Amino acid sequence: MNLIFLGPPGAGKGTQAKKLVDLLGIPQISTGDILREKKREDSPLGHKVREIMSEGKLVPDEIVIEIVKERLGKPDCGKGFILDGFPRTIPQAEALEKILAEMRKQLDAVVYIDVPDEELIRRISGRRVCEECGEEYHIIFKPPRVEGVCDKCGGKLIQREDDKEEVVKKRIEVYNESTAPLVDFYEKKGLLKKINGVASMENVFESIKTSLGV
Ligand code: AMP
Repeated sequence: MNLIFLGPPGAGKGTQAKKLVDLLGIPQISTGDILREKKREDSPLGHKVREIMSEGKLVPDEIVIEIVKERLGKPDCGKGFILDGFPRTIPQAEALEKILAEMRKQLDAVVYIDVPDEELIRRISGRRVCEECGEEYHIIFKPPRVEGVCDKCGGKLIQREDDKEEVVKKRIEVYNESTAPLVDFYEKKGLLKKINGVASMENVFESIKTSLGV
């Protein structure tokens, strides 16, 4: 299955995509994760990406499109993929159509997780991540056994730079301006599966499975 997970930051795209990875055995392609790796590099691109992300803005289309094109060409995408956080603009969506056409592939569905803005800030500000292994937590919804310590590897839990409140507000603003138009774009193509994201993690996952018939 070739899928896109669409929705505002904090809607639970990454969490739900991971659950579907386990079920379907297809890879999750998170441009956010790939870019977080890139920003660690001591290169002009690394520095540029770091600056843009710390302000909650979008990385230029051409950079992200190139990353996705390369990633979709890898053999593990043969059975399908879940794009998480891409496309985020109409030009990215159009570029994706071209890339998939060249690969003789088609999208099967776009899962849109809908969550209102006020709920997003509450969710994101409680998010923590292990600086060693990347495992994700939430101080209310998924707390670690010992505060500030990763259950899996004992690493230190930190807040992502771009999860700080001011940056989150900017990310939501950018989402509403640049990414929200994709809902209409994919609805017109008959691909959109709209999911109510204000429910427990398990219930949201059930809704997603039902909408995809898996
Ligand atoms: P995410 O983890 O998906 O919330 O992404 C974190 C940050 O990475 C975003 O705020 C952007 O700065 C950047 N980013 C991720 N995906 C994209 C994309 N498709 N286009 C542009 N920037 C992106």
